[in-house]
Amino acid sequence: MRGRQRYAPSPTGDLHMGNLQTALLAWLAARRMHDAFILRVEDLDTPRVRPGATARMLADLRWLGLDWDEGPDVGGPLGPYLQSRRGDLYASALARLRARGLIYPCFCSRATLARVASAPAIEDATPVYPGTCRNLTDAEVRARIAVGHVPAWRVRVPSGTIQFTDVAMGVQEQDIVRKVGDFIVRRSDGVIAYQLAVVVDDALMGITQVVRGADLLDSTARQILLFELLNWPVPRYLHVPLMTDASGAKLSKRTSAEGLDRYRQNGATAMAVVGNLARVAGIWPSGAPTTPAALIQTAAWPWR
Ligand code: GLU
Repeated sequence: MRGRQRYAPSPTGDLHMGNLQTALLAWLAARRMHDAFILRVEDLDTPRVRPGATARMLADLRWLGLDWDEGPDVGGPLGPYLQSRRGDLYASALARLRARGLIYPCFCSRATLARVASAPAIEDATPVYPGTCRNLTDAEVRARIAVGHVPAWRVRVPSGTIQFTDVAMGVQEQDIVRKVGDFIVRRSDGVIAYQLAVVVDDALMGITQVVRGADLLDSTARQILLFELLNWPVPRYLHVPLMTDASGAKLSKRTSAEGLDRYRQNGATAMAVVGNLARVAGIWPSGAPTTPAALIQTAAWPWR
């Protein structure tokens, strides 16, 4: 059976060089394996979505020479390919989790959680959820809803560790309870959390290998748990190293890392940009101008 891979950008600003490098690597991984390549737009967090960003992202990817077999502009059998149009699918996954008691309503406000000052998460600043609402009775839940409180929904994370082998990063292990605790799948404002949306989409779009930036390595255990709770097959993961700026910091749309426009204004061709992205990714030592299509055969691909 033919495999399926994807690139899933968020339209919160123009794609910067790091995003474009990940897109190029995801495309090459799919094309080398003769897999289908799917473009999915992760536009769920609407306040952060920038008007026009989706169209510019697609145009920038095409300008580089990338293409896709399914996506918001070309259609396909397993769409829609915009997360903002997939609300029913997320709702039915939530309903399945809820029917089996695998998620529970949480009434904690951010302020309450900050005051709890629980054990800090090992690496990031998100505190581990202390389980405040884990054992509310039905009557307590009804009483809070009756006075107008709207809950978020959290996964009842089972104890134990999640293990997986990342194609690039090797064997990984995470104890989700210690790392983040019961995590949110639906926010109190109704927005579906990234962790659930991405799992529903990867499962229902039949994704067999996920290639994405190493900043998401930490989320993978949570996603694998959700695949398992929903009885869906877990894809393979390949987390590619992130491009950094001259000071070694991760590029970010928020800190206005530059998109393609400035390169184009300075006369850079798509082939020059692709050659450079591939050189920095370590798969094209000369950095000479080239095309994504030529790299399918010629790139020094370090992963299998
Ligand atoms: N939408 C996410 C991002 O732009 C990527 C999600 C994923 O690849 O799983 O960072």
